[in-house]
Amino acid sequence: MLIKIVIFALVCYVLYRLFVNDSKKKAEKEAEQRKKRVESGEMVQDPVCGTYVDKSNAITVRNGDQTLYFCSYECRQKYIDRFNEQQKLN
Ligand SMILES: [Zn+2]
Repeated sequence: MLIKIVIFALVCYVLYRLFVNDSKKKAEKEAEQRKKRVESGEMVQDPVCGTYVDKSNAITVRNGDQTLYFCSYECRQKYIDRFNEQQKLN
């Protein structure tokens, strides 16, 4: 009986380890892919919330020579509001 419990625990442990390793590898792979896409300029960071977004799906604002990319209209609005506040202060 005890042996059965030990074997069962061992199997659970092995499965657990396999699963953990797998998700860890997956996360690492995804992080690497994202890094590559950021480096190649395919992905850009939203300056408001820090989320990485696809350049083709991002919402853009041109500020002089600079183009800014946002994940949502909400973030874009936040940025514009903040920018306007700064303009008022200056
Ligand atoms: Zn955002």
